[in-house]
Amino acid sequence: MTPLLDHLNAPQLAAVTLPPAHALILAGAGSGKTRVLTTRIAWLISTGQVSPPGVLAVTFTNKAAKEMQSRLAAMLPINVRGMWIGTFHGLCNRLLRAHYRDAGLPQLFQILDSADQQASVKRLLKSLNVDDEKFPPRELCHFINAQKEQGLRAAAVEAWDDWAKKRVALYEAYEAQCQREGVVDFAELLLRSYELLERNEPLRRHYQERFRHVLVDEFQDTNKLQYRWLKLLAGGGAALFCVGDDDQSIYAFRGADVGNMADFEREFKVQNLIRLEQNYRSHGNILDAANAIIKNNPSRLGKNLWTEAGSGEPIRIYESYSDGDEARWIVEEVRALQRDGHTRAEIALLYRSNAQSRALEHALFNAGLPYRVYGGLRFFERAEVKHALAYLRLIANTEDDTAFARVVNFPARGIGARSLENLQDAAKAAGSSLHAAISQVGGKGGTSLAGFAQLIVKLREAAHLPLPELVDHVIELSGLRAHYQNEKEGQERLDNLDELINAAASFVAEEGTPNQDGEITGEFGNDLSSFLAHASLEAGEHQAGEGDDALQLMTVHSAKGLEFNVVFISGLEDGLFPHENAVSPRFGGHLPAQQVGGSQNSMNEDKGLEEERRLMYVAVTRARQRLYLSFAQTRMLHGQTRYNLPSRFVDEVPEELVKWLTPRAGKGGFAVPSAPTFQRTPRRSESSSGSGFRIGQTVMHAKFGLGVIINAEGGGSDARVQVNFGNAGIKWLALSVAKLEAA
Ligand code: ATP
Ligand code: MG
Repeated sequence: MTPLLDHLNAPQLAAVTLPPAHALILAGAGSGKTRVLTTRIAWLISTGQVSPPGVLAVTFTNKAAKEMQSRLAAMLPINVRGMWIGTFHGLCNRLLRAHYRDAGLPQLFQILDSADQQASVKRLLKSLNVDDEKFPPRELCHFINAQKEQGLRAAAVEAWDDWAKKRVALYEAYEAQCQREGVVDFAELLLRSYELLERNEPLRRHYQERFRHVLVDEFQDTNKLQYRWLKLLAGGGAALFCVGDDDQSIYAFRGADVGNMADFEREFKVQNLIRLEQNYRSHGNILDAANAIIKNNPSRLGKNLWTEAGSGEPIRIYESYSDGDEARWIVEEVRALQRDGHTRAEIALLYRSNAQSRALEHALFNAGLPYRVYGGLRFFERAEVKHALAYLRLIANTEDDTAFARVVNFPARGIGARSLENLQDAAKAAGSSLHAAISQVGGKGGTSLAGFAQLIVKLREAAHLPLPELVDHVIELSGLRAHYQNEKEGQERLDNLDELINAAASFVAEEGTPNQDGEITGEFGNDLSSFLAHASLEAGEHQAGEGDDALQLMTVHSAKGLEFNVVFISGLEDGLFPHENAVSPRFGGHLPAQQVGGSQNSMNEDKGLEEERRLMYVAVTRARQRLYLSFAQTRMLHGQTRYNLPSRFVDEVPEELVKWLTPRAGKGGFAVPSAPTFQRTPRRSESSSGSGFRIGQTVMHAKFGLGVIINAEGGGSDARVQVNFGNAGIKWLALSVAKLEAA
């Protein structure tokens, strides 16, 4: 036996050393699927059964592909760089680059990301004089991609009524435009390389004969076309080796089809079906919690994981009174973990939606803890956030040329490169700012520029608004909100813009200056400029580098396949996780309930909830030793406080596995907006120095009248409360200044 095969259990060893035939490894999280797949490649090569160019391996993310290459490099004395190991998109790109002529593409074809694709569709509609209200670009892109993912070119799409026929015609025109411009979108990468292999027999033969072993990780998340692509490549007698876990299928909203597993077993007459049930990643309590959660999904292939590791620590649950409090608690806990010898890189902070990173980043920044955001940018570096900030900067200072240039034509308002050049020249000649030079530019460009100047005037007129309202107003009036509402994957960007309103609200609450009534509001030139400074500071702080010891922040989707000693899953509230878009058809969003098709019935709702639960299963099974679950009673939404119920997934964790760090949350909920009944969770840092007020208490203010305390921050002389004064609005008050009395 070679050392390669040491430390494999019996079913793993069987899977690694299967004869060259099709195989399906169906196994739960952390059971060694990825390890088996990688070891099999190494074993096949080291025993001379295949040469490195004869292997094709597909992984789900670039990070996973890199990881696989480095693990292989450690096992084999060969150069793994040139091997065909990558994502579907990466491998298709490679194929098309190698055979661009046969694929009918220019040598230097460009790839459109989803924003590019939408811009391209918009341009097309304009050139054809098509009403984009009837055919919103975002939906058209979605339609085109869905067709491509089913392998359908325009000519093959059936259409019965005029509208559907027109839509197909637009699909065709879009294809022609892309072809003319030498660009391909993501779905096209796959379809084009599929067609290339299907039509070009010599080429197909070449690759079919070359790849003797095709191995696929995360097989449960392949879509129909990817499956057909694999079938085509394996059609010449290659052994197809697929590993997957139906319980971790989390991309149905993008067309992934877990049914591919059953199809594969049937169509390829798979004789080798191996199950791995021993988990090597997590301690017993964590695994039991994961098993208990996923058991609530009715449609599963069914399997149960066990571990030899002891039960380990209980799962820690923390209930906070606000999102800010949750973030501060995480910081304290991370510090304690560090004192106990944990490195930051082994601690992951997971969340359901990207926008949630903002509150966490803020707390980490304040605490000076290095962190890295994976699969996305840090909050203040995200394009949409920077756009909104640029408008705010222009309110504070019209001379800010950088901000001006950033948004003068974003969203597009017909100001072309030519007009901008003229403007720059004029500004240079006059030695003035771009804004001041607007009147110097004539013609059509001048008119559009004057329109932009008008917009700035209007925005500046709103500068007296409290900061969060100002931010909201800017997002609206600038057209940013409408712009992203029209974008295919714009929901996440809209969430981030809303989160910027929240950032402004908490900034005012934390650092705003109270006026003589104790009210903390945004005043022009005061809160706005300090907020902008704060944003640049947080953005300017460099993200920890690749090799630095930094906390790992990412969405649950991006955490697939990874593992960490300690995992925090934050924001476990109904509506957030499970996400409201997935379980309720009321909200127009980008998640499954809404994407399955026209009919948004309860079946789709169940499907949405099941996918959310699988996502929770993925999240829980990332942890090796310690798992924290947390939720907040209140969370900022659109700059307003929203009351939440704990996620049902928290309830699905058996009581005996759990240790509550706060008193156990009451069943049946604790908060209604009009009459909050919960008690405020005491914060460690202010243990007994309470303000004398509590959440839910009715109070009297000299100017605003009767109100109810709905939120509180800080302690001692720094204490602030948020009070709902009914008609007088919801206000943050500094207790040291506000004349507030218990009523
Ligand atoms: P996921 O479903 O999350 O992708 P997986 O099934 O791919 O998980 P791996 O990531 O391959 O699981 O393995 C989980 C952990 O268990 C890894 O740290 C791996 O090194 C370890 N492991 C797997 N098999 C064994 C074994 N036989 N002995 C010791 N450790 C093992
Ligand atoms: Mg894996």
